[in-house]
Amino acid sequence: MPFSVYITAMLFDLHVHTTLSPCSQLRLDQILSQASERGLDGVCITDHNTMEIRNYVPEGILGNGLRVIFGMEYSTSGGDFLIFGPFEDLPPGLPARILLKHVDRTGGVAIAAHPFRSQRPTDETLIKNEMCRIVEGVNGRNAHHENASVLDWQKKYNVAQVGGSDAHSLDELGSAHTTFTTPIYTRTDLVNALKQGAFLQTIHSSIAA
Ligand SMILES: [Zn+2]
Ligand SMILES: [Zn+2]
Repeated sequence: MPFSVYITAMLFDLHVHTTLSPCSQLRLDQILSQASERGLDGVCITDHNTMEIRNYVPEGILGNGLRVIFGMEYSTSGGDFLIFGPFEDLPPGLPARILLKHVDRTGGVAIAAHPFRSQRPTDETLIKNEMCRIVEGVNGRNAHHENASVLDWQKKYNVAQVGGSDAHSLDELGSAHTTFTTPIYTRTDLVNALKQGAFLQTIHSSIAA
């Protein structure tokens, strides 16, 4: 038997909207039944400003092996942030700076979603001041140039980059993902893996369509 090293590679779509987001057509049952076929080991449900998903599905590993982790996409005038942590009762409408301090203080983690999207781009001073160290390098709904612009921040601020589909419909589910190098079963596992950088950098490829 040749010696081999098993390396964990766990594929997560970090950015998925259900019909709990007013703008999404993607039903929870479609996510649960189709995610594995898209090659995903896990999905993060990140509805706009709500974690109501917890009333509809248990969090963690499901009977079919799929991991489902709850977060939310929090809107601020300084950009939208995917946040993971104890945020079930977080009121909407906090300014970005207050939000990011709260996330840090409570042991959570924040990712700047689609930082160069023309609508509500991420306030660069938040990145410059290291208030958010992870950004979406690849967002499945972004235009090519919007993803490519993140490379500039990689050079300037050495931000970590993750990928997520931002799916609002079934055809978009899994269109971008993040590969973790450590096993993830719970929200805490996900938060730790993101904070420790236990994932491959999801960097926009100029060759990609
Ligand atoms: Zn939306
Ligand atoms: Zn989104």
